[in-house]
Amino acid sequence: MHSQKMTANKQTLKTCINGHQFFKSSVCPTCPICEEERKPKDNFLSLLGAPARRALEKDGITTLEKLSTYSEKEILTLHGMGKSTLPKLNDASTKAGLSLIKNKLNLRSKNGDNTCT
Ligand SMILES: [Zn+2]
Repeated sequence: MHSQKMTANKQTLKTCINGHQFFKSSVCPTCPICEEERKPKDNFLSLLGAPARRALEKDGITTLEKLSTYSEKEILTLHGMGKSTLPKLNDASTKAGLSLIKNKLNLRSKNGDNTCT
C-alpha cells in the first residue's frame, strides 16, 4: 500500500501577479521569471540587431556607461553599425539617465567631408 505520501520538500507552488507559476521554499515573493524578463531591459544591446551588437561587443562596449564615452561618429565607423542604430543608442542612454553620445565632432556637414585646414 502506498500509504506514505511523499513530501520531500517544503516547496510550494506560487503564482505571481503576472501569472507565472514557480516553486519557492522560502517566503521570498520574488518571481524568478519576472526577474529574468527584467534583465534584457537593462541591456541596451538587446535593442540592437545582431551585426550592431557584435560590433559593440567587439570593442568592449557592453554598457551604456562605456558607450557614452564614444562619439556618434566613432560608433558609426564600427563595422556592422547602421545609422538606424544611433537613435536606439541615444534613446537607451537617455532612459538610463546618461548623457547622450557626445558629439565630439560636428556632424552638421552632411555634404561630404568636413575639411579643416
Ligand atoms: Zn512572474
